[in-house]
Amino acid sequence: MYILVINGGSSSLKYQLFDMDTRKVMAKGLCERIGKGGHMRHTAAGREKLEFDIDIPDHTFAAKLVVDKLTDPQYGVLSDMSQIGAVGHRVLHGGQWFSESVVIDDAVIGAIEKCIPLGPLHNPANLMGIRACAAVMPGVPQVAVFDTAFHQSMPKSSYIYPIPYEFYEKYAIRRYGFHGTSHRYVSGRCAEILGGDPADHNIIVCHLGNGSSLCAVRGGKCFDTSMGLTPLDGVEMGTRSGAIDPAVVSTLCEKTGKSPTYVVDQILNKESGLLGVSGLSSDFRDVNAAADAGNERAVLARDILIHTIRHYIGAYAAEMGRVDALVFTAGIGENNAALREHVTDTLGFMGVEIDREKNLNPDRAEELEITAPGARVRTFVIATNEELMIAMDTERLVAAKTSKND
Ligand code: AMP
Repeated sequence: MYILVINGGSSSLKYQLFDMDTRKVMAKGLCERIGKGGHMRHTAAGREKLEFDIDIPDHTFAAKLVVDKLTDPQYGVLSDMSQIGAVGHRVLHGGQWFSESVVIDDAVIGAIEKCIPLGPLHNPANLMGIRACAAVMPGVPQVAVFDTAFHQSMPKSSYIYPIPYEFYEKYAIRRYGFHGTSHRYVSGRCAEILGGDPADHNIIVCHLGNGSSLCAVRGGKCFDTSMGLTPLDGVEMGTRSGAIDPAVVSTLCEKTGKSPTYVVDQILNKESGLLGVSGLSSDFRDVNAAADAGNERAVLARDILIHTIRHYIGAYAAEMGRVDALVFTAGIGENNAALREHVTDTLGFMGVEIDREKNLNPDRAEELEITAPGARVRTFVIATNEELMIAMDTERLVAAKTSKND
């Protein structure tokens, strides 16, 4: 079966086509600047790459372009649209409604709409992707895979904020957590590598990319995670502050005369983190290179990142009482050996020690154990693959629905 995975943004539509027999990506690409001009990139296995400007007025037009390219005799890999067995969508926020992926119907669309206040930028864009695919591929089953779903297993003590309880009851203000599909995939792979019963393993996953979050996974389920009501909480990120004293917001409003919305949406979400501290870049490669060259603010930005990652690792070790594995993933976690070495440098007390040579990952392995001989906790680098996880969920749910209907 071929499954199309869609990640709909407000002005973009990213896609990957999986052959589920081999679990390989057969084609992938991106339509961007939707509604503001338009540009498309498309690559398919064994085909010439394609990149061109084209007016893309809306997401439905973008979805049609995707299907056109996938079935194009020269650039495509499918002979006919009917070969697409199902479509899996990445959806940011499932609120308290969704603790797992679901086949999309009208009720699901209604619930995703109800979550718009919790994901005001992403959920409407995700819905545009869903509606576009429904229009272009009528009758093809669609599945929603939520970034928040994996974290719905957290105990109340992890997700209730210590503010008046009525705000949780009235407005559903609580910790939700994000990157759930990545944490589920990576912790699942780690549990497979560890072997035995996944219910016996306690794993800490460090998803370190442009956006970063850590997750404590106890017995295959999320126990705690560092992002909160929104993806602003937790460790220092590319442009996001991560956790700070909330009184910083009111103080900044007073000092700058800006509104709370401006302070949170602009300053804390877009001008802070590695960029805000270093004054140079939100990209860890740039900050790291400047820090290595002696730039003091870059050193500080890097030190804060290391400090905040360790802060959550320590907290999660204490919360779970035992850690069996520590995993690094995403852009920084997978690629930056120095950061992994810095972070783990002080973790010997809890049984984490890494092998410096293996940590360099000279072969650029996608899955690599970097544990030092004799260390109590096993440490891994595991490349995340949210798209494959979405494709696997989609295949499973569509097969279950088909067998129920038979
Ligand atoms: P992601 O959001 O997972 O795509 O990760 C983006 C982050 O990963 C950026 O901060 C990049 O600087 C960082 N990154 C990507 N490749 C590398 C690399 N080879 N070495 C260090 N950092 C990297």
